[in-house]
Amino acid sequence: MDDLLHQRCFNHMLREAVARCPECRRYFCRECVTEHDDKILCAACLGHKTDPAASDLKRFSGLARMMHFLLGTMLIWMFFYYMGQLLLALPSAFHEGTLWQMGWWNTQ
Ligand SMILES: [Zn+2]
Ligand SMILES: [Zn+2]
Repeated sequence: MDDLLHQRCFNHMLREAVARCPECRRYFCRECVTEHDDKILCAACLGHKTDPAASDLKRFSGLARMMHFLLGTMLIWMFFYYMGQLLLALPSAFHEGTLWQMGWWNTQ
């Protein structure tokens, strides 16, 4: 622990090191270390530690958003598809109805 006093910050050569990063074993000043999960880590190691998880989360949320978008698009497409089918079926039904009415009128 004595050599810590004689160590300088990895990023700031003029500053005395106050902590040693357990990940990269380098010495850092107070400004360069951050407490993370009760551990003192340097900014670089903290970035390495948090970045993959964050990007994974970002990727997952992006995928979830994409799935939501696709699902929404599919629902909208299905809605319009069935509306279209309904609209396509409607005129013939009306037509049949008028035909039947015409037939009914003719027979009366
Ligand atoms: Zn480190
Ligand atoms: Zn520093």
